[in-house]
Amino acid sequence: MRRFHYLAPRRLDEALSLLTPDAVPLAGGTDLFLRMERRQTQPDAVVDLKRIPDMDRIEPSDGGLRIGALAPMESLAASSLIVNGYRALAESARVVGSIQTRNRATIGGNLANASPAADTATPLLALGATAEAGRVDGSRELPLEQLFLGPGRTALESGELLTAVRIPAMPGRTGSSFQRCVRTAMDIAVVNCAAFVKLDEDGAVEDARIALGAVGPTPLRALSAESCLQGRRFDADAAAEAAECAAHDARPIDDVRASADYRKDMVRVLTRRAVENAFQRARGEA
Ligand SMILES: Cc1cc2nc3c(=O)[nH]c(=O)nc-3n(C[C@H](O)[C@H](O)[C@H](O)COP(=O)(O)OP(=O)(O)OC[C@H]3O[C@@H](n4cnc5c(N)ncnc54)[C@H](O)[C@@H]3O)c2cc1C
Repeated sequence: MRRFHYLAPRRLDEALSLLTPDAVPLAGGTDLFLRMERRQTQPDAVVDLKRIPDMDRIEPSDGGLRIGALAPMESLAASSLIVNGYRALAESARVVGSIQTRNRATIGGNLANASPAADTATPLLALGATAEAGRVDGSRELPLEQLFLGPGRTALESGELLTAVRIPAMPGRTGSSFQRCVRTAMDIAVVNCAAFVKLDEDGAVEDARIALGAVGPTPLRALSAESCLQGRRFDADAAAEAAECAAHDARPIDDVRASADYRKDMVRVLTRRAVENAFQRARGEA
């Protein structure tokens, strides 16, 4: 690993002012240090965010939730606010790596790393989350869809930090679910999928969002699968049609983990399971 300066600011404004073009932010280091070891990233300086107080807070905000970018996976999986209100997110955080990984790995690092297979990205897309980006002269908010530009590339500009993720309120009859397929417990997803449904008073779908991971250059919304569920009640046909549409929405490639065909098959399986689970939860059955 090349030598670098280690900077450990204790305030957010200080961290932002240290983010020169040759410096990179450090959160848990579970992605960054691997890349530095392999010399894929060779920064002059690393700006450690872990000492900034309150950047790991998970708190109610505007009827929804605000999750600080430094919140580790283990806190997301254990948070009653997330487990009770945003189940798919808790389910995704619970399966990231090992307990050691989950105690270091942060939600902000998972998103800023911009892997198409990032496990928290799909539930956050399905839950309608937005990203809060801070810079020296203020902050801006962007829908999560707009954060991901390609593998390892985000819409964060030079000098910007991901400071938090916001998830809107979930009033009424809603349910969400996260599913994934991996080769081994410690591997990243071959495919992951998250579904969110909101039901009206008659039990028909008022709103549905389905997101897929590891089947395109970024985590993506399965828009035709979503519209196929609109206005429908849950039955086996609805779930099977949504699964088929999601397979069309997916744009997988062959790589070392799986073939594109296998990934499409897994999109069908995982979408059906996620939709079924989300429906059951929205109806208070699970
Ligand atoms: C053994 C192992 C198992 C893993 N298993 C999984 C898995 O099952 N699922 C999964 O999704 N991932 C997995 N990962 C990948 C990794 O743990 C996650 O992506 C993790 O969430 C990254 O967070 P971090 O805090 O460690 O980020 P870091 O490594 O600190 O940073 C990652 C990138 O994001 C940037 N960054 C960090 N924080 C910010 C911020 N607030 N604003 C702007 N940029 C920022 C860094 O500069 C760097 O480029 C695994 C990794 C390991 C080593």
